[in-house]
Amino acid sequence: MQEYAQDAMSYVRHYGRPDLFITFTCNPAWDEIEQLLLPGQSHVDRHDIIARVFRQKLKSLMDYIVKHEVFGYVRCWMYSLDWQKRGLPHAHILIWLYDKITSDEIDDVICAEIPRADVDKDLHTVVIKNMIHRPCGIPNPNSPCMVDGKCSKQYPRAFAADTVTGDDGYPLYRRRSTENGGNSATIHMQNGDIDVDNRVVPYSSLLSKTYKAHVNVEYCNSVKSIKYICKYVNKGSDMAVFSVQSENSDRNAARDIDEIAQYQAGRYISSNEAAWRIFSFPMHKRNPAVVHLAVHLENGQRVYFTDSNVQQRALNTPGTTLTAFSTLSQEDAFARTLMY
Ligand SMILES: [Zn+2]
Repeated sequence: MQEYAQDAMSYVRHYGRPDLFITFTCNPAWDEIEQLLLPGQSHVDRHDIIARVFRQKLKSLMDYIVKHEVFGYVRCWMYSLDWQKRGLPHAHILIWLYDKITSDEIDDVICAEIPRADVDKDLHTVVIKNMIHRPCGIPNPNSPCMVDGKCSKQYPRAFAADTVTGDDGYPLYRRRSTENGGNSATIHMQNGDIDVDNRVVPYSSLLSKTYKAHVNVEYCNSVKSIKYICKYVNKGSDMAVFSVQSENSDRNAARDIDEIAQYQAGRYISSNEAAWRIFSFPMHKRNPAVVHLAVHLENGQRVYFTDSNVQQRALNTPGTTLTAFSTLSQEDAFARTLMY
């Protein structure tokens, strides 16, 4: 995971900051999933179907962006998968475009407002279903986004008449108030109807309509701390340190646990991630390739050997990228002009 983040940084060094940061989440209500369920089953019973369908959808989304160039010619891309506690897979995708999106083009690509139902009924339905940040704060203090009494995603957001890009961070997307020509909608919650207007998660109309899922699209060319994004994209699923204790052991005994037991880290994997891994579906993909070059002192490279080949390995040490480069540089004038 850490290497993936470093590889992402080497893209940044060559191509600058990425243009788009897309989070694509599986929608268990997709027809392709529902059609395959047997009578009486719900999607939580069939992690195999969820995994297979999401993999196909993700492939299709990447083709849509990279081969069909819906946002323009793609210079470089990478994605990593991640499962949160609720268990549905989502992919974090970074896209570098050949022609950078300029700040006055952001509104053509990304929207954070409710589309008008009389103009585009389909898009309106998809956005209301998938792109609304559910009420949190005082009406719903137990929402999962609440941290220390505040929404960790900063919803509801302030209204803005126009998209504003700052020196750092994501732009302040256009979110017009209803008095200023914006739209609002009423969503039905368990404890009553709630009016929403500025709680829309930034989306791309094209991707939302095509994939009918939660597809968060952010413009990240203005984000200074790109290292944070490269790390975030490659952070992997949640982890936890845990131990198993007898219910009867008293608290003092529990405090005497030896340090090894305390430091034993465990990880939990959701059923869905397990299904994904059993199918050997990729957790990470990118293009172009990043090759790690070995760096070591003379005769300091790692050599792997077994009982049977120890002699041969000692006499004939396997080369590394570094030894091969120095060998080549001795006879190749062009190689000598390159920096390792
Ligand atoms: Zn919230």
